[in-house]
Amino acid sequence: MQKIPFFNYPKIFQQRKQLYMDTLDDVLSRGAFIMQRDLENFEKNLANKTGSSFALGVADGTMALLMSLMACGIKRGDEVIVPAHTFIASAAAIHHVGAKPVLVDCGDDHLIDFNSAKNAITNKTRAIMPVQLNGRVAKMDSILELADSENLIIVEDSCQSLGASYKNRQAGTFGKAGTFSFFPAKTLGCFGDGGAIITNDEEIAEKLKIIRDHGRDSSDGKVKLYGFNGRLDNIHAAILDKKLEFYDQDINRRREIATIYQENLNDLDVLKLPPAPNSDPDHYDVYQNYEIEAINRDSLREFLSDNGIGTILQWGGYTINNFEDLGFNQKLKETDLMRSRFLMLPMHPLLTDEEVLYICETIKEFYH
Ligand SMILES: *Cc1c(COP(=O)(O)O)cnc(C)c1O
Repeated sequence: MQKIPFFNYPKIFQQRKQLYMDTLDDVLSRGAFIMQRDLENFEKNLANKTGSSFALGVADGTMALLMSLMACGIKRGDEVIVPAHTFIASAAAIHHVGAKPVLVDCGDDHLIDFNSAKNAITNKTRAIMPVQLNGRVAKMDSILELADSENLIIVEDSCQSLGASYKNRQAGTFGKAGTFSFFPAKTLGCFGDGGAIITNDEEIAEKLKIIRDHGRDSSDGKVKLYGFNGRLDNIHAAILDKKLEFYDQDINRRREIATIYQENLNDLDVLKLPPAPNSDPDHYDVYQNYEIEAINRDSLREFLSDNGIGTILQWGGYTINNFEDLGFNQKLKETDLMRSRFLMLPMHPLLTDEEVLYICETIKEFYH
């Protein structure tokens, strides 16, 4: 029997081991640990890659969200609209600046639903946080129009969508600030925690530089506000900068895998698959995850596991409206239905064609 883990951490290291070891040797030998040239280089390259004016390396994706909201002036008493189908970090960041996360439904594409967002607006709403989940960007023109007409700030949780685009505009560039996570299983993963913020707004960028470094202004060393230790480690920046060179290649492989899934599973009407690569010229998806919906999901999952195939339910099988301990108890029609069926199949650049075909065959065997 084949063994296909959901994600293969050791294999990702082995793939380019010598490059990583040489990079570590170089950085450690220079004693370059905090905010050194490797961080600056990575930030420059990330800004170029995303077509944004500024990129700032930060501690992780959650800090990226929290500090972005803070830099945008979101504060106590404000409401921020966020889809319930997201990582708790999105809502936690809103909570930790003192604002209230207002949960909304998702659409057919598992991304923020326009009408649900529109209906959630009150006179306290200050911002919308669209979450560009699974490597796909939401249909942002209607969301941008809404934000514009209601005078709302957009802070994007684009932690899962580096390099994805909608109508030729990249994830993270639609609002005041966009965020990325370099958690090891992310499309650009490092060997630990890491994150970044991109923005085109110089004032926000300058504020963020201060916030991520204890509120200190680097020009005179004076503390201007209460900040955080929210920096990206220089050693991670160096590794990420090397990994960024292979990013497009890795994304192409993810898109090939998505195509194999599509070609082999498309005629099963018990499944709902993510849109195929190139199926819609408005979207370029990077397939952070391959999240399907499946009838009989739990039995399918067990069958796949019995056949050596690892799968995952995103967020452990919960969406944020499930977390009663945080004060949520909302019913969200599409989200709740989606959650009863959602399932992530293995998706990473080192899967072989044979492995993906085996997964497809096993799924077909289950439904026959
Ligand atoms: C990964 C992720 C984050 C941030 O996670 P960190 O582990 O803090 O880097 C935020 N939102 C979403 C949707 C994510 O997938």
